[in-house]
Amino acid sequence: MKKLLDVNHLSVSFTTFGGDVKAVRDVNFTLNEKETLAIVGESGSGKSVTAQSLMRLVQMPPGKFTDGTIEFNGEDLIQKSEKQMESVRGQEISMIFQDPMTSLNPIMTVGKQISESLIKHQNMSKKQAHKRGIELLKLVGLPNAEARINQYPHEYSGGMRQRAMIAIALACTPEVLIADEPTTALDVTIQAQILSLMDDLKKQMGTAIILITHDLGVVANSANRVAVMYGGKIVETGSVDEIFYNARHPYTWGLLESMPKLEDDNKELHAIPGSPPDLLDPPKGCPFAARCPYAMKVCKNHMPEYTELSDTQKTACWLLDERAPDVEPPESAVA
Ligand code: SF4
Ligand code: MG
Repeated sequence: MKKLLDVNHLSVSFTTFGGDVKAVRDVNFTLNEKETLAIVGESGSGKSVTAQSLMRLVQMPPGKFTDGTIEFNGEDLIQKSEKQMESVRGQEISMIFQDPMTSLNPIMTVGKQISESLIKHQNMSKKQAHKRGIELLKLVGLPNAEARINQYPHEYSGGMRQRAMIAIALACTPEVLIADEPTTALDVTIQAQILSLMDDLKKQMGTAIILITHDLGVVANSANRVAVMYGGKIVETGSVDEIFYNARHPYTWGLLESMPKLEDDNKELHAIPGSPPDLLDPPKGCPFAARCPYAMKVCKNHMPEYTELSDTQKTACWLLDERAPDVEPPESAVA
């Protein structure tokens, strides 16, 4: 399997009056061709900043890369000039966002917005781009594409706008599509449709996907691998099955428990008590220590290292580390 992205020791901070907010701290992951990697975590966990870093969309300043590399097809994106990045963005790596209205241009027809990048990057004529635009809108399942292509975003429903944004993002057949909470603003039925659309497109076009979400529930059917982020760090990573059936990090257990369950009559969600760490002054030990029911003394003072549980699963928790004094792993914390 070809490795498309190789992120090593990525660290991103934001300068504020109070000091530097360390939003992403020593993050490592890879993305292989034709796979979907989900990055899951609460808001403020660093997942969106990680995604934006891959496109070099983090505003600098106040943002800055403090360490690491983002290798894309063997070249470090961090070292590229803004001009070089312009030909990566949209053509090789594309992004779709939670709210299509923030990325669609309200005063341009959807057709024009698709054509623009085809004319600019693929040297198509206006006529060819229009024709390809209709094909793309059909591909993303927009009904009546021939008429819809001449409409403005406000004439579309929420789900249709999301489809249009995907069509624009895929216009230049990028190798990587980053989707930041792509379905959060949509109702559940449309959510499911958009996720299965992305899955179909991945199969048809061979695009690899990074799916950013706070909701483990959307991950089960769409991702191959999952990285769980907390406090600016990846605390656990594994295949979808490993994360759902053999998670070993207490924070992942908390996320799994906070998923709505079909058999739950009262539909009460088990939110994880407490709040995420202050990344102005991140804890020197495990980022989850203040909320973790299993926290030991060692957790507060020393950052846990990753334990490799399989070729694909890695977990940073002292419970798995035999060097931790007085460790008594719970039998099973997930029912
Ligand atoms: Fe909990 Fe300690 Fe594991 Fe962190 S390292 S998740 S505090 S047990
Ligand atoms: Mg976000």
